[in-house]
Amino acid sequence: MSLRIEDYRAQFALPDGVIYLDGNSLGVLPKTAVAAVQKTVTEEWGNGLIRSWNTADWVTAPQRCGDKIARLIGANAGEVIACDSTSVNLFKALITALALQVNSPERSVIISDIDNFPTDLYIAQGLRELLASRNIELQFVKRADMNATIAEFGARAAVVMLTQVDYRTGERYDMKAVTALAQSKGALMLWDLAHSTCAFPVAVNACNADLAVGCSYKYVNGGPGAPAFIFAAKRHLDTLDATGSSAPISGWFAHQAPFTFDPVFKVARGIERFTVGTPPILQFAALEAALDMWLTVDMDALRAASVVLTERFIAEVESQCAGFGLTLATPRDANIRGSQVSFRHVEGYAIMQALIARGAIGDFRAPDILRFGFTPLYVTEDDVVGAASHLRDVMKLREYERADFRARGKVT
Ligand SMILES: *Cc1c(COP(=O)(O)O)cnc(C)c1O
Repeated sequence: MSLRIEDYRAQFALPDGVIYLDGNSLGVLPKTAVAAVQKTVTEEWGNGLIRSWNTADWVTAPQRCGDKIARLIGANAGEVIACDSTSVNLFKALITALALQVNSPERSVIISDIDNFPTDLYIAQGLRELLASRNIELQFVKRADMNATIAEFGARAAVVMLTQVDYRTGERYDMKAVTALAQSKGALMLWDLAHSTCAFPVAVNACNADLAVGCSYKYVNGGPGAPAFIFAAKRHLDTLDATGSSAPISGWFAHQAPFTFDPVFKVARGIERFTVGTPPILQFAALEAALDMWLTVDMDALRAASVVLTERFIAEVESQCAGFGLTLATPRDANIRGSQVSFRHVEGYAIMQALIARGAIGDFRAPDILRFGFTPLYVTEDDVVGAASHLRDVMKLREYERADFRARGKVT
């Protein structure tokens, strides 16, 4: 029997006086992560030292956390590994998609959404330069044109790479339908689950996804810079093993026996082909504490709570802040919404700074998006109503006109 969603709030170290609606950017600290990191530092690093690679199972953290993430995204053990950043894993996933299409050299197109998170688009652009001899063609198009683009270019596409939930608007692609469309044309489907994982139920295998990547410092609460993850369906891991395909980045941890110190690279079998080098153990300690909490959460109940929060926030802002020029950027239909709500306003940046100064924390995404993430494990309906009231006061008192709210920091 899992806990009720509202009982999880006590498991987080939330600062007093803060309404935190930015768990889609950096999740709140789970109290168990504090203890886990402390133990890893003082006992395992402090006393165990080098022995801890074996005695504290440091060396298997990427596989162990990967298997736990697999359960949260509807994959099987051995299909997910936790490692590196999402950006690096996107590089590996795209290289792998091209390797899986090696017998179809005419498949040179990478299709994506022009509004995808920039790093996803940058990695594809970099690959095109790096693999100049493959003549990779990029088709980055608007969401409204996605199905038509897949229909038109799919037969020449190596891979369709999409982020399921748009980081600006919170609009969600239908994972099953888009995957089926891409595969009907012979293209592979790569999903970025940055704003999906632990935001709502995800079922990569039920949707027959080929490859996926995701972040674990957002809704997963794994801590700043937490290891990301990469998923490859078992059928593809088997093909890669059978064809002797190399690792996308052939670092020593992707070697089948790193501690033989063999001068010749021999790729590891299975999901381990995606690791590169020494795992960041302190980050893994925090991540694993968060994952162990997630494994007790009822994801359908989480989604139900998330919809209540997002619907309530939309209703509160539209009633409390009517007439202040805020327009909803997120779909009204909850079925195509992730776990965030965004509003557009030309003064968006300064409005968000004023809100943060009042202790209601969301974030801003250029050019004009005020973004609010709803994480039901620690956000309540009272928070939602409170944040909307602060927003009303910021607008009514024109607090966004203050000069110090207009100066931009390096990170927005
Ligand atoms: C947050 C996010 C990333 C972040 O990538 P990092 O390598 O962790 O900085 C990548 N893709 C999407 C879609 C994201 O939302």
